[in-house]
Amino acid sequence: MEWETVIGLEIHTQLATKSKIFSGASTAYGAVPNTQACAVDLGLPGVLPVLNKEVVTMAIKFGLAIGAEVAHRSVFARKNYFYPDLPKGYQISQMDLPIVGKGSVEIEIEDGKTKIVGVTRAHLEEDAGKSLHEDYHGMTGIDLNRAGTPLLEIVSEPDMRSAKEAVAYMKKIHSLVRYLEISDGNMQEGSFRCDANVSVRPKGQKEFGTRTELKNINSFKFVEKAINIEVERQIDIIESGGKIVQETRLYDADKNETRSMRSKEEAMDYRYFPDPDLLPVEITEDDIRSIEKDLPELPAVKQARFEKDMGLSNYDAAILTSDKDLAAFFEEAANKSGQAKLAANWVIGDLSGRLNKEDKSITDSPITAEMLAGMIKRLAENAITSKMAKEVFDAMWNGEGDADQIIEKRGLKPADSGEVEKIIDEIIANNPDQVEQFKAGKGKVMGFFVGQVMKASKGKADPAQVNKILSEKLK
Ligand code: ADP
Ligand code: MG
Repeated sequence: MEWETVIGLEIHTQLATKSKIFSGASTAYGAVPNTQACAVDLGLPGVLPVLNKEVVTMAIKFGLAIGAEVAHRSVFARKNYFYPDLPKGYQISQMDLPIVGKGSVEIEIEDGKTKIVGVTRAHLEEDAGKSLHEDYHGMTGIDLNRAGTPLLEIVSEPDMRSAKEAVAYMKKIHSLVRYLEISDGNMQEGSFRCDANVSVRPKGQKEFGTRTELKNINSFKFVEKAINIEVERQIDIIESGGKIVQETRLYDADKNETRSMRSKEEAMDYRYFPDPDLLPVEITEDDIRSIEKDLPELPAVKQARFEKDMGLSNYDAAILTSDKDLAAFFEEAANKSGQAKLAANWVIGDLSGRLNKEDKSITDSPITAEMLAGMIKRLAENAITSKMAKEVFDAMWNGEGDADQIIEKRGLKPADSGEVEKIIDEIIANNPDQVEQFKAGKGKVMGFFVGQVMKASKGKADPAQVNKILSEKLK
């Protein structure tokens, strides 16, 4: 039997406001526990929440970016449950009338094809505090600093058909909220996390299978692993005659398995009702249009511009615009060097490779865009060979200065054509057999000659020049 996977994601992204969604307390990460929750965040008697206007603007930006309907009227509701990290007994969220309605994003799937994934809705809510299970030997610590931190919950349609597609969608939303500057997207700090709803069905069947929900996953790698292992588990159960129970499960990364947290029977009844302390949010068409005017350039538009104005391939432009900081770095390097294609190659190739290897992000790169541009300029005007460029790149990475300083200090200079010619004459004279082979039509020996010349010149010859002179001489 062939199985098809069905996935829908609920992504929680922390909005990058300075203060909380309903109070003036700070949202800064990493403060001493319980120093940043005020009476409003704790729901103490006699206080009233006041909506932070900035979160509304941010939610509208997101809605516009995914082509969604922004609600002219949305309502906050209380979601009631008890938990130690939620001392007021309810979370303020949105239920029936969310601020952002149906929209969609486009993701890239295998072999360069794209696919539209529907977004059902996005709503505003407050985060709860944190339960700390380590460090307290048999007890649980409660840190309420996070209570009242603004979240945008983005709910997708069950449109994804593989773990890879789910990751592509999650990356797309991640890139989008960072482009919009509505979230820092920091996954280690929990600013961007998701619940993955997963089910399987026999290929060709119309109805969805019963789903499970994998809670609170905060890395792209874990989302992929968690979904794959859950799909395997579900197929195993069905194939051995069992049934899937609708339940909430936890992914354990250490054991690479999912474990039941609570079943549908134990699911809570949240007794949602409109929060009597908060007015409905009224947004006019003018509000929306004025926010739209200030939207930054979005990834798809930037990608098209990189292709059209800078002559990049679709593939290169897609990679370079996948992250806002990477795009900015590339654009600066391209503009300052006047060599867009070379800049793209170096950023996607050597620079990204090196950053990856050392687990650094583009913003921590020891080589600035300006430094890279300086090196690319020298390479483009043949003041250094590509081999020398790699040497300069390494030296810049190690903090030895900018390209010109390194070129000067190390005396890097391509061999001049006279020197190259001399080397070529010697090598032709010393290898009569290969010359015969070449003349007999064996074009491959050209590679041998170029290799010999490069070696003899200690990498100082320019391969293009070597090729040219060699072809002439061998004729
Ligand atoms: P709830 O509010 O109980 O979490 P929803 O119906 O709002 O349930 O769905 C939550 C998420 O689950 C959505 O992202 C949706 O796309 C996804 N989903 C719903 N049904 C399925 C299914 N059968 N398989 C996979 N995902 C599903
Ligand atoms: Mg849910």
